[in-house]
Parts: sequence; C-alpha cells; structure tokens
Amino acid sequence: MEIRIGSGIDVHGLKEGEELIIGGIKIDSKYGIEGHSDGDLIIHALVDSILGALALGDIGKHFPSSDKKWKNADSNIFLKFALKKMVSLGYKINNLDVTVVLQTPPIQSYNQDIRNNLSLLCNTEIDRISLKATTTDKLGFLGRKEGIAAFATILLIKDESTN
Ligand code: ZN
Repeated sequence: MEIRIGSGIDVHGLKEGEELIIGGIKIDSKYGIEGHSDGDLIIHALVDSILGALALGDIGKHFPSSDKKWKNADSNIFLKFALKKMVSLGYKINNLDVTVVLQTPPIQSYNQDIRNNLSLLCNTEIDRISLKATTTDKLGFLGRKEGIAAFATILLIKDESTN
C-alpha cells in the first residue's frame, strides 16, 4: 500500500485584543492572532502537512503573503485547495496528529469542538484526528505569550475506493 507522511509547522504572534481562532473554532481569550490572513495556525500547519506529504511545496508557494488577495483570507480556502490536490492524486487521510504550543489560554475545553470541526472539514472520522496542547513551561517567546505554534503530522494513504 502506498503511504505518504507529511509535517507542517506554523507560528503566529499573539496580541492583546485580537481574535483567536484555532482549527476553525473561536477561542475565548484576551490574546489573539496578529497579522496575515485569519491566522488559523492549526489549519495552516495542516495544509502544509498535506502539501508536504504530496511534495507540492508549501502554503506560501500557492498563496504568497506578498499578494494582498490573501490578506485576512479564510484559512478554509487554503485547506480546500490542499484537500482537492490530495483527492485528485488519489489519496485520503489515514490519520492526523496536531500539537498546539501555547502558554495561554488553556484550550482543553475546546479540544472536542476543534477535532469535530477538523473531522468535518477533512471528511475524516474523528478517531483519526488527534489534538494535543502543551506549554513551554514559560520558556521562550511561546512562554512569554508573544506567540503560538502548531505542529501537524499527517499520514496519507491511497484511496482504494476511488480506483
Ligand atoms: Zn499561519
């Protein structure tokens, strides 16, 4: 069976008073994402993991941040693009493992909602989608609440049902 592994990393700056959306779910937080697009770092890391597994470059190659068109763009546009590429090449998601690194706010209570949403967006069963969160024990820029990071690892398998 043909399998392909991919990884994706995304980091965004945090700023007081901005909105925080992770995995398509709005998080109640006094800190939010600063900067380009809607800054949904789980979706961005996930897109890079899919593109990486398919050896199709990265999100910046297909949606350059120098292009104003993608400023504040809905991250789902990027995800739909990557999933379409995946399906057109005959693959489906076997499983996805995401880790979010942040000092604040705690996102445990959003875990199920985020996994549910990723499951819907990716058309993949929820028991194939893992979401973990950790802090850096107050060390570094993540620990100082200056930023937030997400890491995604994905395994794609050939979708036999499409043959
Ligand atoms: Zn991003």
